[in-house]
Amino acid sequence: MEIEIATVGGYEEVGRQMTAVRAGDDVVIFDMGLNLSQVLIHDDVETENMHSLDLIDMGAIPDDRVMSELDGEVKAIVPTHGHLDHIGAIPKLAHRYDAPIIGTPFTIELVRDQIADEGKFDVQNELVVMDAGETMDIGPECELEFVNVTHSIIDAINPVLHTPEGAIIYGLDKRMDHTPVIGDPIDMDRFREIGREGVLCYIEDCTNANKKGRNPSEAVAREKLRDVMYSMEDYDGGIVATTFASHVARVKSLIEFSRDIGRKPVLLGRSLEGYSSSAARVDAPIPTDIEMHGYRRSINSALSRIMEEGKENYFPIVTGHQGEHRALLTRIGRGETPFELDDGDKVLFSAGVIPEPTNEGNRYRSETLLKMQGARIYDEIHVSGHLCQEGHYQMLEALQPEQIIPAHQNLKGLSGYIETAGSFGYELGRDIHTTRNGNIISIVDE
Ligand SMILES: [Zn+2]
Repeated sequence: MEIEIATVGGYEEVGRQMTAVRAGDDVVIFDMGLNLSQVLIHDDVETENMHSLDLIDMGAIPDDRVMSELDGEVKAIVPTHGHLDHIGAIPKLAHRYDAPIIGTPFTIELVRDQIADEGKFDVQNELVVMDAGETMDIGPECELEFVNVTHSIIDAINPVLHTPEGAIIYGLDKRMDHTPVIGDPIDMDRFREIGREGVLCYIEDCTNANKKGRNPSEAVAREKLRDVMYSMEDYDGGIVATTFASHVARVKSLIEFSRDIGRKPVLLGRSLEGYSSSAARVDAPIPTDIEMHGYRRSINSALSRIMEEGKENYFPIVTGHQGEHRALLTRIGRGETPFELDDGDKVLFSAGVIPEPTNEGNRYRSETLLKMQGARIYDEIHVSGHLCQEGHYQMLEALQPEQIIPAHQNLKGLSGYIETAGSFGYELGRDIHTTRNGNIISIVDE
């Protein structure tokens, strides 16, 4: 059976992931993501009403024109998890393919929200929910399997396409977490089993491939957060926290510890309200008796009430962890909201800065504005969602793939992975394929 892999997007950058695998006549697409930094670099771009080709030209969504060179029929679109760099282009591209979108419950819920916000295209693809551990037939000879993985969003999986030539594993995005705060540990037993059955090709997430050692569990981030927040138990001023709105497990920890120190948590900001509501709809094990406000007017009236009743009684969890210009925390820093910071008030960033100049600049400005109001900054109360080198080593040990395609980085970012794989005897150009966006790699040609 002929097998080809089209590396459509996310092979020269972190963002706009999209990969297609052709096995005989059947094609499966993994991810259709957005490169948000290509959007945010322009002021006031509203992608909802933009045409796909303009977004392709901006470098914001994958250039899927290479798909016409794949000689088969698209049978499924499979987003691996709900981060925007994996699902954000679905509203702009999915309608071009007569195929269902298959994902885990939370991922599909977020895809549904994305499609509902779309203003330009009518996306009618069927949405199909499949849980980790389940399988589905793709054409007469192939099978799709979801293997449970752990990441900085709940319900993440690595999809595996089982073909007569061996398994093709799409290994984006994960960390090796044996004690996640929500959900099951990464299913290493199943990966080892698939490794024994034979892995033809492994596509890997190289975000942290240049970082040594092991990336810690979410349980470690939870303990760091507990340590910081319990140290503030006697503080009688304002405390504000921010994190990734999609990081449901982290939001859960923030809510729980704020109650432990005698404060009432309030979620403020559109994305925090959106992701938390979506998580509640799929019955994620999170506190649901929580006050939330998404729109500016109700956020402002909640903040006025917090100031009147005493900010020492509250724990606002707000948007703005990357210093985004229009997010609530940045607006608090600029003094544009009813919430006033006093000398010594605490601001908790339970998020790392995404290493990209726009974010770094925004975050610097936001922190500086907050400090000018007297705030004390606690940053990096966080662990990354991506494997570091020893995690990659363990994955290669488990899977022993015949061929490897490193992804989710630029060329410089891939170098650490090539070294790690090199210690197993893999060789660049022979069985490790570095590639570009828009390439097609022939894996089996007969
Ligand atoms: Zn992700």
